[in-house]
Amino acid sequence: MKNILLLKRIRKQAITWIVLPAVIGLGWVYPPVGFLLLVCMVGAVGMSFFSGRSWCDWMCPRGAFYDVFFQKFNQGKTVPKWLRSNKLRTFMVGLIITVLGTQLYFAWGDLHGMGMAFVRLLTITTAVGIILGLTVHSRGWCHICPMGTLASWFGKGKKPLYINSEKCTNCGLCTKACPMGLVPNFDENGQLTDPDCIKCGSCVVTCNRKVLSFDYPINDIKKSA
Ligand code: SF4
Ligand code: SF4
Repeated sequence: MKNILLLKRIRKQAITWIVLPAVIGLGWVYPPVGFLLLVCMVGAVGMSFFSGRSWCDWMCPRGAFYDVFFQKFNQGKTVPKWLRSNKLRTFMVGLIITVLGTQLYFAWGDLHGMGMAFVRLLTITTAVGIILGLTVHSRGWCHICPMGTLASWFGKGKKPLYINSEKCTNCGLCTKACPMGLVPNFDENGQLTDPDCIKCGSCVVTCNRKVLSFDYPINDIKKSA
């Protein structure tokens, strides 16, 4: 069961990651291709209202790219606090909106110029993500990605992960399995408090004790309210 679920995710990501180098490569030849970046932006933020950061699981080509190529280098590593700080993340949201907005403003009406604004942004941020992926954490970029941050703000509490904490042995397998490098913390209702969960289910299928689930109540957890 575990292998089937993880295999399905790997298969999906093996297709989606290709979109990233394809859009960057084609974009430098034919800039309007860069408008495809809007699909990712709308997808990540749009889905967050219903299911949190689930777009970031396998649908985002960039997230899939980092999992496929860098996860093996830092499996089980957690993400440093500085990369998850609200100040840095808010700064990144403001920076990208300002940079992209300014470029679009000056290129307004010119399809190639506007497309190039997206291509340039995608190229530079992917390079930053690769450096972070090799040195800090495979999904390091996903903690400062403006779309990921917006999705975590808008999607807080959507499709939450639950734990039956009475049966958890704190073995740490879920932390090792998490592609986002999260250290799961749960509230008194057994609900994961971290809005950066991408709902991948890796921890759910890895847990030997089967104490994690996206269904509530899980096992003998009862709603306290
Ligand atoms: S955080 Fe950004 S780059 Fe990472 S998976 Fe989500 S939308 Fe893609
Ligand atoms: S906490 Fe579990 S479901 Fe959420 S991102 Fe980590 S491994 Fe995936």
